[in-house]
Amino acid sequence: MKISIIGTGYVGLSTGVGLAKRGNRVICFDIARDVVEKINRKEPIFYEPLISEMLTDVVSKGLLKATMDLDFAVINSDVSFLSVPTPSKIDGSIDTSYIRGASVSLGKALKKKGYHVVVVKSTVLPETTENIVLPALEKFSGKKCGKDFGLCVNPEFLREGSALSDFLKPDRIIIGEFDKKSGDVLESLYKGFNCPIIRTSIKTAEMIKYASNAFLATKISFSNEMGNLCKRMGIDAYEVMRGVGLDKRISPHFLNAGIGFGGSCFPKDLNAIISKARNLGETPIIIESVMKTNYNQPLRIIELLKSKMDLKGKKISVLGLAFKADTDDIREAPSIKIIGKLIEEGAIVSAYDPKAIKRFREKYPQINYTKNPRECLKDSDACLILTDWEEFKNLNERDFNTMRNRIIIEGRKVLNPKNVSKFEGVCW
Ligand code: NAD
Repeated sequence: MKISIIGTGYVGLSTGVGLAKRGNRVICFDIARDVVEKINRKEPIFYEPLISEMLTDVVSKGLLKATMDLDFAVINSDVSFLSVPTPSKIDGSIDTSYIRGASVSLGKALKKKGYHVVVVKSTVLPETTENIVLPALEKFSGKKCGKDFGLCVNPEFLREGSALSDFLKPDRIIIGEFDKKSGDVLESLYKGFNCPIIRTSIKTAEMIKYASNAFLATKISFSNEMGNLCKRMGIDAYEVMRGVGLDKRISPHFLNAGIGFGGSCFPKDLNAIISKARNLGETPIIIESVMKTNYNQPLRIIELLKSKMDLKGKKISVLGLAFKADTDDIREAPSIKIIGKLIEEGAIVSAYDPKAIKRFREKYPQINYTKNPRECLKDSDACLILTDWEEFKNLNERDFNTMRNRIIIEGRKVLNPKNVSKFEGVCW
């Protein structure tokens, strides 16, 4: 099938590369020139396992190209995926300006086109597609949804750090359809994916995404609350959650206690659904508590550190800046809050991350960045480990011996007790 992708960031590019890998012809459209140029040069715009090899492969085979010409992308495709950002406004509600703007542009491009299916892949609150996307498409194309073009919502569940394998091997595919014809076209694109395909109304599909993210975030905040209790009682939260997670009704995933969740999705999506609930006159007690627990969780590591030393003038080495391993994404990363607090307390921060330094430096140019963990640890008074990078799992006694003072606190369970002695975790 011929596909166009509108907005080729983490989700758009992973979708485009994944679909091209399955033999579809993909045109990526983006308003950012550097994004388009990089894709055509086979250079990924972010770090993600497999992206570099797969992008090179599909661009070299002529299956994927990028353009700044939306008409070209639409005219040469049968289905367009909208994967533009849906960030939070200052009050936490969803900012729909990108999705609205992209729908207007897409509507104009649809004028010159026969039947075409538009698929909303961005995470949008229930009613957004019907109240914002659909009217913009109809108004600016002068066409009728259902008759002249199709419309679906197809939420994305990929995780950064395993985006391509998640896209290619999803647990399920959700198709929210305006009408049967639109849903049939999208389902045919996913033919051969080995997972259940659930077809629903547009609003239901939009809600499935929010309910999924809210539930996963709830598991994390719940684990953190249990973890905080465990720490007080000298219990290892990981051993507890291993025992808990083997219950089939619970599952072992997303039970890792630590410094809280970050990333571009959970915080903004939970804030958006909270704001929507309040507008409807509901009080979303559970989701609000999830956010409250998560707000305080990163600072637990600072409290623990402060219980051991005064931070003023101390050199603190921070290992890990990305919000999770295998990505360079730092959006809402706990490291931002933790390093901010260290600076506020007068500490001298030295940081290392295998992939995220470039992005982090834009936020905190004033701290010292090192080329490897060893350099970061040298002469430090304490070390905080904030991301579970594989590289940190191999750190050993020799790496930490160069510290001036031996205080090591993990915010994510990373270190191997067989290789390193004398360290503790924020919840273990
Ligand atoms: P991103 O910021 O990485 O990328 C968005 C891209 O859209 C950028 O390249 C930007 O230049 C481009 N863009 C903005 N306005 C545009 C327009 N009018 N026309 C064309 N391009 C435009 O965003 P992302 O992380 O890929 O997220 C996109 C959507 O997917 C969001 O709704 C997000 O909630 C959702 N989502 C993200 C993830 C994730 O892990 N990142 C997972 C599931 C769902």
